[in-house]
This record gives sequence, structure tokens and C-alpha cells, in this order.
Amino acid sequence: NADSAMYRAKESGRNNHQFYTAELTKIAHARFTLDTQLRQGIEAKQFVLFYQPIVEYDKDTKLTKVVGVEALIRWYRNGNELVMPNDFIPFAEDTGLIVPIGKWVLQQACKQLVEWDALGLSDLKLAVNISPRQFHDANFINSIESVLNESGLSANRLTLEITEGAIMEQEDMAVEILLALKALGLRIAIDDFGTGHSSLSKLRFLPLDELKIDRAFVRNIPENSDDMHIATTILAMAKGLRLHVVAEGIETEEQLAFFAHSGCEQYQGYKFSRPLPAADLPAFIQNI
Ligand code: C2E
Ligand code: MG
Ligand code: MG
Ligand code: MG
Repeated sequence: NADSAMYRAKESGRNNHQFYTAELTKIAHARFTLDTQLRQGIEAKQFVLFYQPIVEYDKDTKLTKVVGVEALIRWYRNGNELVMPNDFIPFAEDTGLIVPIGKWVLQQACKQLVEWDALGLSDLKLAVNISPRQFHDANFINSIESVLNESGLSANRLTLEITEGAIMEQEDMAVEILLALKALGLRIAIDDFGTGHSSLSKLRFLPLDELKIDRAFVRNIPENSDDMHIATTILAMAKGLRLHVVAEGIETEEQLAFFAHSGCEQYQGYKFSRPLPAADLPAFIQNI
């Protein structure tokens, strides 16, 4: 009857409410824990950079040359448990902890490059990921300048990888920042290109140097002909706009052959190398 239906509805409503409250408490607790752990991680220097080679490849001679590296962060939580960036960078971005973490990444990576210079691995370029929050931080330009000064790395060897999202939010501000970075002599790359929703007409007016084609368009080549068309279109557009291109996530011989024949210049992916600990890079370059 109606009374008991009402009773059941009330009961389940209350249970739902209790359920959500319990879930929210759990989530809030997990976030609090992660925040605390990340702060400890910064204090206790639990972060490490891996470096993935960026290569040029000559399809005629089949020669591969390492021209640079992308610095990729890893976190050894409590000193031992490996946490990958997708599992803490978005959170650090939300809370703002990405600002000190990102500064450490820049310092560490620039210092590493200068050490490699001294070993004779000269002229590698360095690519560093910059999150939107870091990019828009009021101190960002200053901190880039001081990192370059302290390390002695020339600005033109440093490529900042930013996403379309970082530019499209607060667009006017983003253009100012990009111009200031260009004035310092840095290179700018759009990371994960094609996955954001920037319009090409907007990109056209930005002071960019490079596009990194997202792995999403590389993964299903050669099976997926749509992806092949997208990739060739990006390459043609980049050429027209005089932008350099790096294809991300090259895993197979076929993917490499496709991009090499489509006029791509540089590659990154497991086909050449996974991200490596810094200590392994010199040997990799010598033996490639
Ligand atoms: P990303 O900048 O697009 O970096 C490329 C990611 O693809 C890396 O994952 C790399 O290991 C992976 N990858 C490279 N080649 C291949 C391949 O052939 N196959 C497959 N399956 N994967 C490949 P990782 O190191 O887990 O980093 C994930 C993302 O985390 C990065 O994507 C970047 O957005 C972010 N990230 C990493 N380090 C930093 C950092 O220092 N600061 C910031 N703000 N973000 C970072
Ligand atoms: Mg990147
Ligand atoms: Mg990428
Ligand atoms: Mg990516």
C-alpha cells in the first residue's frame, strides 16, 4: 500500500544519502592522504626523472640519431612504491602542488643536461612538460629565468611542452606568457596535439615551434585509415605553418615507416626506447 511504499522510498532515500556521505568522506580522506604524502614526497625528495629519447630517423640509411630527451617524472612514494605521473600529476594540478614539483623538474632536468654536456653528449635538446596551472602561475617566467641562470643551460635547448588546454583557458594571458618565453629564447611545443579543442585559426597566431602528435592517432596505424589521414593532415598543416613535428608513441616498424614516408621529422616511442633512468642514457646513445 501507499504507506509502505512511502516508507520504502524514505528508507532508500536515507540509505542513498548515507551512502553518498560515506563515499564523499572516503574520497575526501583519500585526497587528504595523497596531499600529505605528496608534500612529504617533496620534502623527502622522492621524485625521480626518467628521460625518453627523441630521435631522428633516416628512412634511406635507416640510421637513428638521438636529438633530445623528454623528462618524465616518477614518484617513489614513501621511498619505494613507484607511482606514475597520471596517478598524481592531475591531483597536484588541482591542489597547486604542481608549482613546486614542476619547478623541481625544471631544475633537475636542466642540471642533468649540463652534466651530459660535460660527458660529451653535446647538444641534446630537453623537453619538459608544463601543466596549465604552472604555466599560468605568476612566478613562472621568473622561475624559468632563474633555473636557466643557475644551471647554465642555454634557453634554446629547452622546449616547454604545454597542452592546448593551457592556452585556451585565459587565452590573452597565455599569449603574453608565450611571447615572454619566446623572448627568453625558449622553444614551445604543443603536447598531445589533436586531443584538445583549440581551433587551428587560433594556433595560427601563436608563437609556437613544435607539435607533438598524440599517441591516440599513432596507436591504430596502419589498421585505421582515418587515423592515417589525420596524421598526414597534421603533418601537412605543420609544414605549412613551419612547425616542427614529433610523433609520439611510435611502437612498431609499420608506424615508423608510415610517418617517415609522410615527412615526419622526429619520433618518440617504445620502438626506440622507453623512458630511461638518467644513468642509462649515455650507454643508450652510444649503442643505438
Ligand atoms: P606526455 O607528456 O604525453 O608523455 C608521453 C607519455 O607517453 C609518457 O608516459 C611516456 O612514457 C609514454 N610513451 C612514450 N612512448 C610510448 C609508446 O610507444 N607507447 C606507450 N604506450 N606509451 C608511450 P608517462 O611517463 O607515464 O607520463 C604521462 C603523462 O604525465 C605525460 O604525458 C605528461 O602529460 C605527464 N607528465 C609526466 N611528467 C611530467 C612532469 O614532469 N610535469 C607535468 N606537468 N606533467 C608530467
Ligand atoms: Mg610531454
Ligand atoms: Mg604527449
Ligand atoms: Mg600524452
